[in-house]
Amino acid sequence: MRKSTNMNRRKFLAGTALLTAALPAAQAAAKVAQGSGPDPDLTGKSILITGCSSGFGRLGAEHYARLGAKVFATMRNLPRVEAEELRALAARDGLDITVLELDVLSDESVQQAVAGVQEAAGGAIDILVNNAGIGITGPVEVQDAEATRLAFETNVFGPQRVWQAVLPGMRAAKTGQIFNISSQLGRLIVPSAGHYSATKFALEAMSEQLAYELVPHGIDVTVIQPGGYPTKIWVNRNRYNEELKARLSDELREGYAQLVAQMGTEDGTGRNTDPMDIPRAIAEIATMPAGDRPLRRAVHPHRRPQEGINKVMADTQLAWLGGSGYGPWVKAVLT
Ligand code: NDP
Repeated sequence: MRKSTNMNRRKFLAGTALLTAALPAAQAAAKVAQGSGPDPDLTGKSILITGCSSGFGRLGAEHYARLGAKVFATMRNLPRVEAEELRALAARDGLDITVLELDVLSDESVQQAVAGVQEAAGGAIDILVNNAGIGITGPVEVQDAEATRLAFETNVFGPQRVWQAVLPGMRAAKTGQIFNISSQLGRLIVPSAGHYSATKFALEAMSEQLAYELVPHGIDVTVIQPGGYPTKIWVNRNRYNEELKARLSDELREGYAQLVAQMGTEDGTGRNTDPMDIPRAIAEIATMPAGDRPLRRAVHPHRRPQEGINKVMADTQLAWLGGSGYGPWVKAVLT
């Protein structure tokens, strides 16, 4: 929890207007935190989300729109049935959701989508949710170049492409919020999880550095670290795993027989957690005062082992850099 007496981003910016504007949001956030207040109010906020064909992205698109946001729900490979269903829902319920194409693997697709969104939003977007992601499992040694590239291209370079496209607008506006969806496995290592942790560790590092560098620009970065939730990530992962398994040599297949046999066998149905936890956490953080939003939020009803690591890392970072020339940036984000 951020300490209000120490250096924070609002003090760093020392903007009276910003403070005044933040007060209603601060009161709303406090009520939501107590669980007794109204739903977060996202009226007037424009939100761009990647990976809205299923899971947290799809649920978030609807949730933020029901909270009043102007939502730009993106997915790859349009036209597709998920896009038509979301458009039909928006039309039926009067939700401000625009569905458009964005493939995080393509510079051109990202630039085209962000340009279209900014034009429709009448300027910089307020909130980016970098949600699109994939898993490919198995031992590290069996991850070939193709699987490794796809994992990093989707989970690391994908979000980077999107924040590089939106940041010039946010910096010009001197405001904005970026959510990057990492994972519990952005802090912890599970055997046979492929390069998933490697990609999410990279995303965590890039996000934290970005958060420091964006302090003077009035832009907040929050890393969401979900535990296991029953979305389509498991069956999607099985598809990528089958493709990788088909490319394996007999030597590798036999060398890791048990772990290779386990690749692609989970469909997520054994998990009884509610994927709405993630959009709810994002909406709550989005309505916090600018400059006071947490750098990291672990999300799972029971298991959040990464919280201890988050704390040790923040304390270490503060002890290491707090008294240096970088101190104001680091303290603004971590205290
Ligand atoms: P889903 O598989 O349901 O959703 C993932 C979304 O990402 C889909 O819409 C998928 O689209 C999209 N996507 C994949 N590749 C691309 C691409 N190249 N361009 C655009 N979109 C793409 O999984 P979740 O909702 O669970 O995952 C969302 C995020 O949450 C991911 O970053 C994941 O790593 C993370 N996460 C999930 C956890 C869980 O337990 N569910 C736990 C921890 C983190 P398409 O349908 O076209 O494949």
